Amino acid sequence: MNKYLKRVLEETETKNPHEPEFLQAVKEVLTSVEPILERHSEYEKLAILERITEPERTIIFRVPWINDKGEIVVNRGYRVQFNSLIGPYKGGLRFHPSVNQSIMKFLGFEQIFKNALTGLPIGGAKGGSDFDPKGKSDNEIMRFCQSFMTELYRHIGQDVDVPAGDIGVGAREIGYLFGQYKRIRNAYEGGVLTGKAISYGGSLARKEATGYGLVFYVREMLKAHKNSFKGKTVTISGSGNVAIYAAEKAIENGAKVVAMSDSNGCIYDSKGIDLDLVKQIKEVERGRISEYLRKYDDAIYTQRTGDDSPIWEIKTDIALPCATQNELTLNSAKKLVENGVLAIGEGANMPCTQEATDYLLEKGVLVAPAKAANAGGVATSAIEMSQNSMRFYYTFEEVENKLERIMINIFNSCKDNAEKYGCAGNYVAGANLAAFDKLAEAMVAQGVV
Ligand code: NDP
Repeated sequence: MNKYLKRVLEETETKNPHEPEFLQAVKEVLTSVEPILERHSEYEKLAILERITEPERTIIFRVPWINDKGEIVVNRGYRVQFNSLIGPYKGGLRFHPSVNQSIMKFLGFEQIFKNALTGLPIGGAKGGSDFDPKGKSDNEIMRFCQSFMTELYRHIGQDVDVPAGDIGVGAREIGYLFGQYKRIRNAYEGGVLTGKAISYGGSLARKEATGYGLVFYVREMLKAHKNSFKGKTVTISGSGNVAIYAAEKAIENGAKVVAMSDSNGCIYDSKGIDLDLVKQIKEVERGRISEYLRKYDDAIYTQRTGDDSPIWEIKTDIALPCATQNELTLNSAKKLVENGVLAIGEGANMPCTQEATDYLLEKGVLVAPAKAANAGGVATSAIEMSQNSMRFYYTFEEVENKLERIMINIFNSCKDNAEKYGCAGNYVAGANLAAFDKLAEAMVAQGVV
């Protein structure tokens, strides 16, 4: 291993001993950019790796709120403003009980590279809270969001840092956050948050963008290997925003989606999933995926029991992990390969463990890496920001066409960089190389900051 790289990896481990997800993400990116470090020995003197792995700012704050029983609850809020090299900090907010500093930093770190790949002027950030929205009333969600924003507002702005949604943060939460920001600032700054509803400055097709973008990317990857979605079976983990719209676009491309899941278990419907029913259960009723059986009693529901999600046991041509990090383990990867999987498209952030990714690549499975394949969401958020600045809007078709063009460009840049650095067909490395190249060049240009 390159000496400089080895030293920085060791130092990062020493400095961040209790942050396994962050260390995993750093290792994954840095080890694959070794060919660039070999060509640019000056990067060591310029401390490029040390600077890119250290957040510009990490904000941790108290979020006190009152539940429906009148009790005071205290959660912890985060915003990691990781890197503003190529634009204002940009990245989602996650509300989930598992949220901690390691997860925030891994997501913020990934976001720097993802945003660079979009070709748009956006830096990298992530934030959120260990607040669990599940089972909370609308009023509780609103009070929590208002309290969260009462601290966060002083750190963000449409030219400074622009949060969006992620797990547990959808249009409802963005609405409450935006309302409170506007009230405190006494100004309508449309571009301060993205993922807004259409009625007050949101972009058409933003809701669909991550899932659609994922399918556009995987379609291009399949096309490069003389294949397509047509007639293929697809399994998709999760049944949230990314999963639902990935399913919609995959079906539109001629695939049959046979399984979806949530954190409790997965459903399998050999006839093809009824997506309207999944939307009704998840988007309207906010229920559990097992309720799918109320209409289709011949579908199969498998409860999740251990670390490995049962969805990856199902035979499929294409697997789209769209739930959460490290949800596709080495065991699951082996099962998928045994069942003849052709391609994996990462809709969630870092859904495959490092061992799973290595195994899949070794077995010749095509892997579309998250930071490239799910970049359609943030790219469309940037399109939402530009519409807010113009005080104008694009039609659904205009946004979708721009998104499609961006995803094709991202795929081509992963492909070209993989070829340029001698790892053709490895789009995981290609994505890291393409993004790092651009960021390192910007760092050199901007001096020691
Ligand atoms: P949602 O909250 O809409 O949906 C998340 C889905 O994943 C739900 O079905 C949820 O099940 C499941 N899930 C969450 N945590 C776990 C867990 N620990 N184990 C198993 N299943 C879990 O989130 P999104 O669809 O927005 O996000 C999904 C992934 O995509 C995340 O990794 C996110 O970072 C990434 N992403 C999202 C973007 C976006 O635009 N929304 C953009 C780019 C990436 P349950 O309901 O049971 O919790």
